[in-house]
Amino acid sequence: MTFTEKLYFPAIIKGMGITLKHFFKKSATVSYPEEERPRAKVWRGMHVLKRDQQGRERCTACGLCAVACPAEAITMTAAERTKQEKSLYREEKYAAVYEINMLRCIFCGMCEEACPKSAIYLTDRLVNVESHRSSFIYGKDKLLEKTGASIDISERQSEKQRKTMR
Ligand code: SF4
Ligand code: SF4
Repeated sequence: MTFTEKLYFPAIIKGMGITLKHFFKKSATVSYPEEERPRAKVWRGMHVLKRDQQGRERCTACGLCAVACPAEAITMTAAERTKQEKSLYREEKYAAVYEINMLRCIFCGMCEEACPKSAIYLTDRLVNVESHRSSFIYGKDKLLEKTGASIDISERQSEKQRKTMR
């Protein structure tokens, strides 16, 4: 080693220069959950159970989404609609219980493709951070669209699904 190399100063200054360069550079990461990256409209996140234009639940509990789901994440219990419930449910059968296990779900979108009633869609919303496994089982309280607060899924619909929606 030369005398200056033995002093280690050039190496320390060079190292500090690299550190300072990165210190002032725009960070490549974001501080999630305070900050979020923009997501594409077709990004596959948390599901929504849609209502029709009259605010009735579209799901008829046919079970096709559960059959199509490769992760076996969907379970439901069907019920018969009564005369008084005509304004709540679109068809004679509806899902009294509809649950998705978000720890099982791989967000593949097969449920969305399988649904003949355009009742379930994936959205650009994120699944919440939870601390208990049981909290990841999302029921209708979290999945069903709120009345009067429609979630726009038009960007991810196929032409066939748009026609079913009418
Ligand atoms: S997105 Fe895929 S894995 Fe998740 S519930 Fe739907 S079909 Fe199942
Ligand atoms: S979401 Fe669609 S496929 Fe699944 S049970 Fe309801 S109507 Fe059937």
